[in-house]
Amino acid sequence: MRPPLLHRRCPELVGSLPFLRLGAAPTPVRALPGAGTRAELWVKDESGYGDGGWGGNKVRKLEWLLPEARRRGAGTLLTVGGLGTNWGLAAAWYAREQGLEVALGLIDHPVDEHVRDQLERLRASGASLYFPRTKARLILAAPWRFVRHFHGATPPYYLPAGGSSPLGALGAVEIALELGAQVEAGELPEPAWLVTPVGSGGTTAGLALGLRLAGLRTRVLGVVVNDTLRLDSRALLALARRSAALLRARGADVTGAVPGPDAVRVETAWLGDGYAHPTAAGDQALALASARTGLTLERTYTAKAFAALLELDARGGLAGGPVVFLQTHGPR
Ligand SMILES: *Cc1c(COP(=O)(O)O)cnc(C)c1O
Repeated sequence: MRPPLLHRRCPELVGSLPFLRLGAAPTPVRALPGAGTRAELWVKDESGYGDGGWGGNKVRKLEWLLPEARRRGAGTLLTVGGLGTNWGLAAAWYAREQGLEVALGLIDHPVDEHVRDQLERLRASGASLYFPRTKARLILAAPWRFVRHFHGATPPYYLPAGGSSPLGALGAVEIALELGAQVEAGELPEPAWLVTPVGSGGTTAGLALGLRLAGLRTRVLGVVVNDTLRLDSRALLALARRSAALLRARGADVTGAVPGPDAVRVETAWLGDGYAHPTAAGDQALALASARTGLTLERTYTAKAFAALLELDARGGLAGGPVVFLQTHGPR
């Protein structure tokens, strides 16, 4: 198994922070000249990450979360998501391979064909599904769900939406460290911006921390696609600091790597009517990406982020150097 770059960067973590490799690293970077942007555009492509089941950025989080569940002796991962949750599906698939059960509370949002397909996959995954429908009712039912999933004396391992706990965010730290190694190897120039959708925040927070750990000056541009969680730059930086504190608590020296306010820029103008509500700008960006770059986007996350990238670039708002788009989606 290829060890994570985080263990190389912080050797103190080797014995204190377990890791389970679930995909082939590093994920590739390539130029995207066809998009016609002013800035030199690149993609770091997470879509092929993961050995089976469901790919994309959620698998990176599970590489840290599943061994932690094991360390705690938990029998069940208890988590939450929307009806079409990529997170819940990735958790269900990869946890089962580790002999862990998954229990999922699902909240309503608009249902299209993609969401219906996702629900079918969730049903087939063997996860226990609950349908509290609203966030308020999910919170009310939470204590009961928690008690219900004890494994002997060990409680279930509760994970927030999207797996965006301080530990889950380390998945994106690893993505950023890979990017740093790829810059160092001359595969691409040092980017000015790394653009990602913001769904639950772990990816943005982890990237911000990981870019500093990698010694890059690259800033994260987070495009918010979810209006059901607090995802402003303060909240995202707070999560990055909690991840840094976790590394410190496990023995790592992260001096100078804790991201400051400048590390993350948050854009909220591409959300449209809310989480999982498609937008015209997103659909246009999706069509352009497919026709001119060969990137396959989806409507909830990556299309909205790519739309923001194209519009901000056209307005001159992404000046200063190359731009990397993080392809976070990984269907199978
Ligand atoms: C979950 C998800 C994201 C967002 O990542 P967060 O860490 O939740 O902010 C982006 N793209 C896709 C395809 C996702 O499934």
